Amino acid sequence: MKNKKIWLSSPHMGENEFKYVTQAFDLNWIAPVGPHLNDFEKNLSKISDNKYVAALGSGTSAIHLALILLDVERDDEVICSSFTFSASANPIIYQGAKPVFIDSEMDTWNMCPESLELAIIDRIENRIKPKAIIVVHLYGMPAKMNEIIEVASRYNIPIIEDAAEGLGSTYYNKPLGSLTEFGIYSFNGNKIITTSGGGALISSNEDSIKKAKFLATQARDHAPHYEHSQIGYNYRLSNVSAAIGLGQLEVLQDRVERRRQIFEHYQKELSDINEISFVEEPDGFYSNRWLTTVLISANSKVSREDLRLNLELNNIESRPLWKPMHLQPIFSSCKYFGSNNAEYLFKYGLCLPSGSNMTENDIARIITNIKRSFEK
Ligand SMILES: *Cc1c(COP(=O)(O)O)cnc(C)c1O
Repeated sequence: MKNKKIWLSSPHMGENEFKYVTQAFDLNWIAPVGPHLNDFEKNLSKISDNKYVAALGSGTSAIHLALILLDVERDDEVICSSFTFSASANPIIYQGAKPVFIDSEMDTWNMCPESLELAIIDRIENRIKPKAIIVVHLYGMPAKMNEIIEVASRYNIPIIEDAAEGLGSTYYNKPLGSLTEFGIYSFNGNKIITTSGGGALISSNEDSIKKAKFLATQARDHAPHYEHSQIGYNYRLSNVSAAIGLGQLEVLQDRVERRRQIFEHYQKELSDINEISFVEEPDGFYSNRWLTTVLISANSKVSREDLRLNLELNNIESRPLWKPMHLQPIFSSCKYFGSNNAEYLFKYGLCLPSGSNMTENDIARIITNIKRSFEK
């Protein structure tokens, strides 16, 4: 019999999600408005340094609204991490603006503050001051925010934190997403907690979040009929999805602890294999370890792809790290600043199965398979 499939990261429901969804049905709040949506925003605010919160249909729509609130318009430039998922950058294009991609540094794999500053200087010399910076906290690891915020504030450019993968992580004890003008979260099915699909925009500016909710519900002016003086969007989260989210928020801390445990387990068990290395947390950085990622050394006889295929043969899903945006066909004409660190990471890095619902047996099976791949 074939071994059961082990997924990279699959949804992991707690005890109360179904109860809250049933409540939503009983109350007939099957709409993008309702008590579960309000409570979900309240509870998300509590764990996000009491920021104002707009719960939305996706993390992508949260980034889009943040760009609109920062007045990003046609032909503007927006700086963005290159090493990320395309959803970080796509909303820049929705606005008709142009992404400028920044390489990673090798400590956290996130935006390099030096390359960021070089990019800003170059663009200002070309008389196009970037309108905003989208910094991604990849795989849950915080970016070097003190340095990045220092550069951004020197040039007075607002920052959007893409914490889609970073809910539950902290930077010097502050939740990711809460450190700058705007933060975004994703509750897609593969993230650390999920509402099946969903996201949120957070900010300490109450007016911005009010405006975000207005834009997310088709920008209806105050009138008894339907009156519109701006283009709106249908970006609000459903009350039913929010009901799932209420239950998921209750178990977020457990999920973070479990994913960190899985990371430590891999690190300990694979420590004998010299070809495999892990990313450490710098002092003050606390990662939710959404996905455990490894680098295979460049001189290893077993390549990243060999390992991935070996795991696949054994019905274990693993995946190369994100392909940098400046190497993507859709973004090939965009500017890029850096020294090819992200390219290196993409070539040699692999995401290992990290779901909080994996059993000890699952993890043992993965580790045995990895060890066996390197014994050959
Ligand atoms: C998942 C993800 C997003 C997009 O979130 P959705 O809710 O899927 O729209 C954005 N950025 C990063 C880094 C992500 O991993």
